[in-house]
Amino acid sequence: MSASTDSQRMEKIVSLCKRRGFIFQSSEVYGGLNGAWDYGPLGVELKRNLKNYWWRVMVHERDDVVGMDGAILTHPEVLKASGHVEGFSDPMIDCRTCKAHLRADQLVEKKGVKQCPNCGGKDFTEARQFNLMFETHVGAAADESSVAYLRPETAQSIFVQFKNILEVSRKKLPFGIAQIGKAFRNEINPRNFTFRSREFEQMELEYFCRPEQGMELLEYWKEERLKFYDNIGISRTNLHVLTVPDAERAFYSKGTYDIEYDFPFGRQELEGVAYRTDYDLSQHQKASGKSLEYFDEETKERIIPHVVEPSAGVDRTVLAMICEAYAEDQAPNDKGQMESRIVLRLHPRMAPIKCAIFPLLKNKEPLVAKAKEIVALLRPDMTVFYDEGGAIGRRYRRQDEIGTPFGVTVDFETLGERDPALRDTVTLRDRDSMKQERVAIQDLPAILRERIR
Ligand code: ATP
Repeated sequence: MSASTDSQRMEKIVSLCKRRGFIFQSSEVYGGLNGAWDYGPLGVELKRNLKNYWWRVMVHERDDVVGMDGAILTHPEVLKASGHVEGFSDPMIDCRTCKAHLRADQLVEKKGVKQCPNCGGKDFTEARQFNLMFETHVGAAADESSVAYLRPETAQSIFVQFKNILEVSRKKLPFGIAQIGKAFRNEINPRNFTFRSREFEQMELEYFCRPEQGMELLEYWKEERLKFYDNIGISRTNLHVLTVPDAERAFYSKGTYDIEYDFPFGRQELEGVAYRTDYDLSQHQKASGKSLEYFDEETKERIIPHVVEPSAGVDRTVLAMICEAYAEDQAPNDKGQMESRIVLRLHPRMAPIKCAIFPLLKNKEPLVAKAKEIVALLRPDMTVFYDEGGAIGRRYRRQDEIGTPFGVTVDFETLGERDPALRDTVTLRDRDSMKQERVAIQDLPAILRERIR
């Protein structure tokens, strides 16, 4: 983690998220459930745009990847074979002074002495392993035989379904299986807003290949994933690729990169790209007794494919997009005086609402009717928002704050009252430059479609 943090900036972001309906504390009226978050009307749009774009580039735009959607409830044998039942744990210690449960690596060290990050206490229990999986029972009998787990990652259902998907999709190596879905980890200390939650979503690709292709594909996927972040508006200068050192890598991995982002609370992992060798398929083949081999028709060989896994967090990426987009600058009000504004410079492709439509005055029927016509015209192609309340500058400001990239204003020129040549044209305002252009209403769908694609 880098030393530079900005807690004030983070507070403003959390407050904006709540005020404008991006993210709320889950079960808030009952005091909140720690580590769980609910996405509000704008948050759900942002999250869906992210997931849809990931699916588009990782699945739809490729011939070598197919998708799946696996169950969250997972058979214990799956997670025994993968090593999670035995080893998916963090070392936990308790502070004897304030009774906090802490992850051992969260202690702060001052002058060589370990201290509790909450109270500064120095008296701790011994570290013990705490398994992060949520256990539940399936069916009426709540005994050992009915134990199941909420999946701690989406990857395992991909490995377990490898053979079925290979057969139905008839893919040849290298090929991938992609999945987006919920994962659950009973994190000892959920923190940093949604960054470390107990319930979250992952976007994972398992890209199967021949052993000799593994290292090369690890590089390939790292680069592809960096391009992805660029395409959703996360600047390369705030991303860092960490080569995970041998000692910290999973024992079966031959190479792992962490893609990290400079959050206001420090540099932290957004995504892991790992070459996992044939570990997972081999484990499941051994434990289930079912063949998970791939038959190569050319060489007539049977092999267990190796796999490269780019595994990204939906919630962490949403948070990174909001952190990246949050800005405060100056904008003119209706009287032309400069005022400070909050603006979310979200990539238009990701913005929850693409275009806001304003009649200049709400009590002028022809302006309102024209604006509503434009709403109907644009709605099949994008999310739009109609707003007739308040001074136009204030209406712009409300949209700037939620990242709406475009604003269309219907004014008296639109009605052709001043200059017949301007009839059926509107002003199209850009959120970031605040520049306005005059465009014909009929051209709006094509112009905007191009900019939000
Ligand atoms: P960390 O070291 O931060 O706990 P990890 O290395 O355990 O993360 P992975 O198991 O590689 O994470 O999971 C892949 C991705 O899933 C992470 O890069 C992250 O984006 C996301 N993720 C993992 N744990 C959480 C969590 N508790 N809350 C939100 N997202 C998470």
